[in-house]
Formats: sequence, C-alpha cells, structure tokens
Amino acid sequence: MEIAIVAHDGKKDEMNFFLTKNLEVFKQDHIRLIATGTTGKIAENLGLNVHRFLSGPLGGDAQIAARVAEGITKMVLFFRDPLNAHPHEPDIMMLMRQCDVHNVPLASNPATAELLIMGLKH
Ligand code: PGA
Repeated sequence: MEIAIVAHDGKKDEMNFFLTKNLEVFKQDHIRLIATGTTGKIAENLGLNVHRFLSGPLGGDAQIAARVAEGITKMVLFFRDPLNAHPHEPDIMMLMRQCDVHNVPLASNPATAELLIMGLKH
C-alpha cells in the first residue's frame, strides 16, 4: 500500500514527531512510503525507506497528485500550513482535489492522520 507524506515548512516539526511516534507502522512490509523532497528527508533521517519526489514548490505535490489519479497512491498525509502563503497553491489544490475525485483518504492535519493510520496497525 502506497502512502504519501507531505508537510509544509511550518509543519515539518509536527511531521517529524508524527513519524517518530508511528515508526513501527511505517516500517511494515506492505507499506511503501513516498514524499515530497524535503519531507522525505525527515523520513530518511528516521531510518525509513521512502521514495522522494521533487520538492513541493518544484512540482512534488503535482507528481503525487498524478499517482493518486493513476490509482497508485492509496493514502495522503498532508500536513498543511494554513497560516502561510504558498507559491505552489494550485498544485496543493490539485493534490487535494485528486484525492476527492478518486476517493483516496486524505489527512490535512496530524490529528486526522493519527486516526487514519489506526487502520494500518495490525
Ligand atoms: P517539501 O514540499 O517536502 O519539499 O518541503 C512540501 C510542500 O511544500 O508541499
């Protein structure tokens, strides 16, 4: 099962905390982790296998949106920073829209992400 993680700069500490707390979940064999470039570094630093796409502002969100559209990515954990403007806002909207178009679970904050991954704990 492919899961995408994305965290805006103002939310990267929270992503680090979330991944650390749930390390065992993300280490499960049936989970394949993908990420935007800088967010992926956080996962790598924690010893997780992760495929890193481009950084968000350079198209990483768009790449992940394409995988959602193609039915490859099955869950998106997207820690958005609602207090700052983003140059790649159209890509962010596209990623969220594709999740809704294809009925892919999308968490836009850590609290929802915690609830979503409860379903992955076996
Ligand atoms: P980043 O991209 O992981 O490369 O920082 C996230 C984003 O801004 O969408």
